[in-house]
Amino acid sequence: MIGNAGTNMKKTFLILLAAGALSACAAAREGGVDPMTNKTIKVFSAKENKMVETQTVVKADEEWKKALSAEEYFILRQQGTERAFSGKYDHVFDKGLYVCAACGNDLFASDAKYDSGCGWPAFFKPVSSNNVVFIEDKTHGMVRTEVRCARCGSHLGHVFDDGPPPTHIRFCINSGAIELKKSE
Ligand SMILES: [Zn+2]
Repeated sequence: MIGNAGTNMKKTFLILLAAGALSACAAAREGGVDPMTNKTIKVFSAKENKMVETQTVVKADEEWKKALSAEEYFILRQQGTERAFSGKYDHVFDKGLYVCAACGNDLFASDAKYDSGCGWPAFFKPVSSNNVVFIEDKTHGMVRTEVRCARCGSHLGHVFDDGPPPTHIRFCINSGAIELKKSE
């Protein structure tokens, strides 16, 4: 019953998306992401292959500016979007794990990456729904669902419901928001 499993997974994702959008009282502001609060969260660790506890990464805007390149800061901390087809991972299909370029949180396995032709790296699922957060984004005259890193709150990209099976979700992610840790 692969078809049913796919439908259920899609439903789960859509519920998560709806929950994320509803809980986003502080919807995305134009020109920057909200600061995180210091707390312990549970995320999936690909290295340990299980859920682990970790601290959220909280930094002042000035600290992020120093820690990141100008391009990374623009995307991760100012909700920027790199030009289509310009990102370094748009057409990379090497084996490995994509982590958050700001805090190193595990985000996407290369097995979940596919060629969507949209001009940005596309994934049909994250390593765990715990590792990302969904926020309703009403900037630029559109209503979209934004994806952020659950550990540091940095902007990664957006999600759309036109992805391939089994989830039918497309995580459209900026190359500048992620870093590929290649597997040997
Ligand atoms: Zn992060």
